[in-house]
Amino acid sequence: MIFQYKIPLIIIKIYKKESFSASMDLKAVLNSTEPIGVDIDDVIIPFNKHSIPYVNKLYREYISRELNEQDIILNNIEETKILVESGISREKMYAIFKMMEADGIIENIMPTKECIDCLKMLYEKRNSKLYLVTARNSIFYKDPEGMTHRWLDKIFKEHGFKPLEIVFNHEKHKTLVTYSITTFIEDNLFNAEKLLEHGCNVILFSNPTNRINPDDDKRLSPEIYEKKRKAVEKIESYRNTKLFRIESWNDLLKNF
Ligand SMILES: [Mg+2]
Repeated sequence: MIFQYKIPLIIIKIYKKESFSASMDLKAVLNSTEPIGVDIDDVIIPFNKHSIPYVNKLYREYISRELNEQDIILNNIEETKILVESGISREKMYAIFKMMEADGIIENIMPTKECIDCLKMLYEKRNSKLYLVTARNSIFYKDPEGMTHRWLDKIFKEHGFKPLEIVFNHEKHKTLVTYSITTFIEDNLFNAEKLLEHGCNVILFSNPTNRINPDDDKRLSPEIYEKKRKAVEKIESYRNTKLFRIESWNDLLKNF
């Protein structure tokens, strides 16, 4: 009798172990045919890099030193000490987005060739089901949709690439069910956390906002630092099972 009960238990254990270890690696995630969501800012285009000269131009006189990329994470979670101490709130920083929009800067930042090559491969493998999902909205811009569609038209003219749809939604996890998305390419720490919690694979463009940096405790207030630390710890628990950190589109090209 004991023998009869042991066999099914062993089978269950082996089955469970296999199911767990079958969690997808980056290659499998990329080569999947399931729909994918791709963020635009600081994923397809280097948005923050272009915003730094604007911040320094508009607010330099109020700030004790010139800012660098690490200081200003405009569209992200981090309210850096240097800005707070200079009396520049995140809301004030939104004025910069509108300036960049008015100057036609944002709609002219073009993706790299590696990025386009990668997007095309993802698009073809998924039978067109590639969605650009962006948090751009009317708080930050006068005409976020018009600006983004004009940008995409330029890419289409130059590279012949157009995704199925641009989705305007800052709560990215809410798009998963609507579009049957199972993988996201993202850079925002809190979006990544929510997406992972909802069972989505996340290919994360690693940047100072989504990892712990040696000087974070000096740059951030204790509350923001703690919030960030907890979120990083949480997403890291999914590392190499559902979370894949990359530095560039080239890291993805190698995995097709
Ligand atoms: Mg982004």
